[in-house]
Amino acid sequence: MTGRAAPGLQAPWDRVYVVGAGPGAPDLITVRGLKVLEAADVVVYAGSLVSPDLLAHARPDAVLHDSAGMALPEIVATVVDAFRAGRRVVRLQTGDTALYSAQAEQLRALAEADVPVEIVPGVSSAMAAAAVLGCELTLPEVAQSVIFTRMAGRTPVPEGERLASLAAHGTTLVLFLSAQMIHKVVAELAGAYPPDTPVAVVYRASWPDQQVVRGDLTDIVDKVRAAGIKMTAIIVVGRVLDAMGIPEEAFRYSKLYDPGFSHGFRRAAPESAPPAV
Ligand code: SAH
Repeated sequence: MTGRAAPGLQAPWDRVYVVGAGPGAPDLITVRGLKVLEAADVVVYAGSLVSPDLLAHARPDAVLHDSAGMALPEIVATVVDAFRAGRRVVRLQTGDTALYSAQAEQLRALAEADVPVEIVPGVSSAMAAAAVLGCELTLPEVAQSVIFTRMAGRTPVPEGERLASLAAHGTTLVLFLSAQMIHKVVAELAGAYPPDTPVAVVYRASWPDQQVVRGDLTDIVDKVRAAGIKMTAIIVVGRVLDAMGIPEEAFRYSKLYDPGFSHGFRRAAPESAPPAV
């Protein structure tokens, strides 16, 4: 079975493509994202978090706009004017377009201007960080939920989402936009998470200067400061980071590949032991 592919990329397009560029490495964009980027006449890209090596895939005669120095009305006008002039336009965002991307306000403005949009998802830096750390963010009986959040900065966080209250769930936390405030992160988590809870910080995941700092709630602040990490980093908190260290007798296997567990695609082996619960 094949999925629905992007429609023909011959000019003119009947929509603007909003594309997740991935976390940084130029080959961590999706195939569909790369195809539209390669065909575009105009690319409006999100500043320093999009690799020049990825932008090099645009056609030599494509017009590139760095949105880092642009305010919303200018970004929207650039996209809308180019689209109305019959140009093939890509709005290239970092990571995935659905997280901390200021996407909603752009989509509202494009809808207001009657410009159809197709979103091409990307690899979020959260997922890239998990890959760098070699960890599964969800582990049976350890954590079955992941909270994507951030510390309040100039953008406030709704009162009900204070880190201290999210911490009450004790599950895996993935924090964007917060490395500079790692001391506040740790202070908010104290009490809810045991002090030896593992914490990892991944700086510029998938870029050539990527750095990983691992520790726990007692020492991560000093380690991150010593490494000089202030921005472009993901913080992961939770026992899932310890998966390799869990002794065999305490490790809980998934049902998915349990030899004794049947599901829609596989029958249990008759001789197998009942699933360990
Ligand atoms: N939409 C993006 C997030 C943009 S907000 C995504 O899905 O990844 C910018 C924040 O994302 C940064 O402050 C940092 O927390 C994180 N970030 C972006 N790229 C990163 C990378 N390569 N490595 C680690 N964190 C990154």
